[in-house]
Amino acid sequence: MSFDFAIIGAGAAGTLLAVELVNRPCLSTKRILIIDRPGGDYRDRTWCFWATKEHSLDFLVKHRYTHISVNEKDKQYTPIHPYTYNRIEGADFHDHYRPILKSHPQIEFIEDEVVSINSEKNLAHINLVSNESKIAKICFDSRFDYNRLSDSKYPVLQQHFIGLEIETNQEVFDASKADFMDFSVPQKGNTRFMYVLPTSATRALFEYTLFSHQPLKDSEYEEAIHEYLALRKISNYKLISREKGSIPMSPHPLWRPLSSRVLPIGLNGGWAKPSTGFAFNRSLQRVGQIVDRIEKDPERLPKLKFKNRFWFYDLLLLDLLNRKNGEGSKLFIRLFEKRKPQLILRFLDEKTSFIEELSIMSANRPIQFIKAFFRWLFKGF
Ligand SMILES: Cc1cc2nc3c(=O)[nH]c(=O)nc-3n(C[C@H](O)[C@H](O)[C@H](O)COP(=O)(O)OP(=O)(O)OC[C@H]3O[C@@H](n4cnc5c(N)ncnc54)[C@H](O)[C@@H]3O)c2cc1C
Repeated sequence: MSFDFAIIGAGAAGTLLAVELVNRPCLSTKRILIIDRPGGDYRDRTWCFWATKEHSLDFLVKHRYTHISVNEKDKQYTPIHPYTYNRIEGADFHDHYRPILKSHPQIEFIEDEVVSINSEKNLAHINLVSNESKIAKICFDSRFDYNRLSDSKYPVLQQHFIGLEIETNQEVFDASKADFMDFSVPQKGNTRFMYVLPTSATRALFEYTLFSHQPLKDSEYEEAIHEYLALRKISNYKLISREKGSIPMSPHPLWRPLSSRVLPIGLNGGWAKPSTGFAFNRSLQRVGQIVDRIEKDPERLPKLKFKNRFWFYDLLLLDLLNRKNGEGSKLFIRLFEKRKPQLILRFLDEKTSFIEELSIMSANRPIQFIKAFFRWLFKGF
């Protein structure tokens, strides 16, 4: 049997795409295949995003922050009203959506591992580790591999981290405040920071994060977190959970089709914002754009293009971090000192005007961006 759409990977992107497809009445006759690896690894993360008004995933939000901080020494938390920074647990997301997807009459959900995909003019053959093969007219693939970036002409960095969620036996945290980037940790020639998300007076996630070229050994992230806690005299705590990740930071056009029948989605489709690694809320927007195109022509591979001026700003910032990786802390601190967080969040959402973008650039020695601009002008975008 041939499916209209196959989705490889029921993580954030695959799940949101499947939900969007079955929610559109004019696609109600379409058959959808979802393939995800067996096991529960997909539940291992928390997703945060900022929003100003009602959000379609509000029902899953477990915690909201009203203040954030980007600092090096004296922590100052700034209110972000009308935004809140919202936290969703991966486990809640999947506990809600998996049963819906698995029981939906349009969907066949199989637990297997995709090994390869062969595309013909109008069909994709999806080969599974179980030796079975499935056929679909259009295939969405969320398997990301850094090899896709190995010969990129663009800067390629990673946002890599390990996070430990801990519980203390004393009340030490303020659960309304999130540390976006605490640069007080030794930079060691990179852009390194602690990301801290308390969820109660006794519970918080500490994520030691780098924007750099290569991951560290697991023990290095964890030691950095324990040192950070010790410096803050937090010694009596127990470990609740651990999360680990590496998100590609590159303006490389990952969104391009992988073949005539296969479109990459999620991190594999370049849906993470190259300069920050935030991908979750963007995935919601991307699935809307994809399904809008499918509604118009369900037989055609829906292509998306993201080379706009925000892509270009990401390129300039990554060019700087690529060449001077240790400069990131100064850059982000200056930006948050000089500009309101609401403006910066709107800029990261790609909703600012050109004048506002000039004001963002000018917060940070514009000469370095002008030089980067000319470097890429000569190199070719
Ligand atoms: C720990 C962590 C925390 C993050 N926090 C945030 C955050 O706070 N905010 C934010 O915006 N972004 C965040 N991100 C980035 C991004 O939102 C997530 O990585 C998100 O899960 C990406 O969605 P995805 O669908 O591309 O990948 P995933 O959610 O990882 O889904 C990929 C799916 O593909 C499946 N798969 C892989 N290979 C195969 C195969 N061969 N066959 C079948 N199935 C396969 C996997 O099992 C998985 O279910 C975080 C990432 C991590 C790792």
